[in-house]
Amino acid sequence: HQQQIKHAGLPAVTRDNVPVAIAANIGSALEAPGAFANGAQGVGLFRTEMLYMDRDAAPDEQEQFEAYQQVLLSAEGKPVIFRTMDIGGDKQIPWLNIPQEENPFLGYRAVRIYPEFVELFRTQLRAILRAGASGNALLMIPMVHSLDQILWVKQELRNVQEALKAQGLRHTSHLPLGIMVEVPSVCFIIDHFCDEVDFFSIGSNDMTQYLYAVDRNNPRVSPLYNPITPSFLRMVRQIVTAAHRHGKWVGICGELAGECRYLPLLLGLGIDEFSMSGPRIPPVKTQLRQLESLACQALADNACECRSAEEIEELLTEFTPQEP
Ligand code: PEP
Ligand code: MG
Repeated sequence: HQQQIKHAGLPAVTRDNVPVAIAANIGSALEAPGAFANGAQGVGLFRTEMLYMDRDAAPDEQEQFEAYQQVLLSAEGKPVIFRTMDIGGDKQIPWLNIPQEENPFLGYRAVRIYPEFVELFRTQLRAILRAGASGNALLMIPMVHSLDQILWVKQELRNVQEALKAQGLRHTSHLPLGIMVEVPSVCFIIDHFCDEVDFFSIGSNDMTQYLYAVDRNNPRVSPLYNPITPSFLRMVRQIVTAAHRHGKWVGICGELAGECRYLPLLLGLGIDEFSMSGPRIPPVKTQLRQLESLACQALADNACECRSAEEIEELLTEFTPQEP
């Protein structure tokens, strides 16, 4: 534990000095200082929908602005990725009065609800753009599955920016845009997305359920809910290869990102940024500093050729030093 605390302040690099970004997932402004104390180099996922939950009405622009600014100020110039509201699925908001659905995870959620609740979305964009003047803000859209969704978002963003300008309100004119990669269709058109966005972040929690059609919350199928399979790893490889070819970076921000055992594998696949809950950062950084990037690449190559999850686990057991 002492060693991990010490590592919180050390650079996130492999033993052969390859830098890797280690960032935090947060659900509120209150979580930010703890994340940075744990050594986060940024916020890789701010789940902003938490601001909309457990209340009777939407947070107004000022309330959001203050929460977002607070995170940017605690980040002291480090990057903060604001994921726009990921409402629906397992995160129901009663005051939106969205009718009950039979398959909420395949239903009306995240980016799909923005056109109907467009004023809500615009208010959030305004708050993020305004807060962005106080730090290094990035914007990330959840559950994108087709290019037209991101084109729609970009048009909205331009309109909101122009409105802020016309009002003379202080805001950032530089807000890099990314998408969550959590619906498999995206993987086949990464090149098209590269023309429109600046970065990608794999949401392994949802991607696992959508890749195999396995409900992430159904205990009956939980043995099938395993992101460490040949198909998942090959998919990650395809995403990273396509994005890197176009000079874009790829993060991962699901639970998988904080698992020391799988770090060598994901690193070997070329993931650039790992975002996880604050307490996972010190052990992951300690593990990272023991890894050799070339050995990780060879491991990932071998893992992609495995024919089962069990074979991959055997490779990892041979490879991985003890979890710190
Ligand atoms: C994910 O799907 O992996 C993710 C990070 O988003 P959430 O868990 O909030 O759906
Ligand atoms: Mg998700």
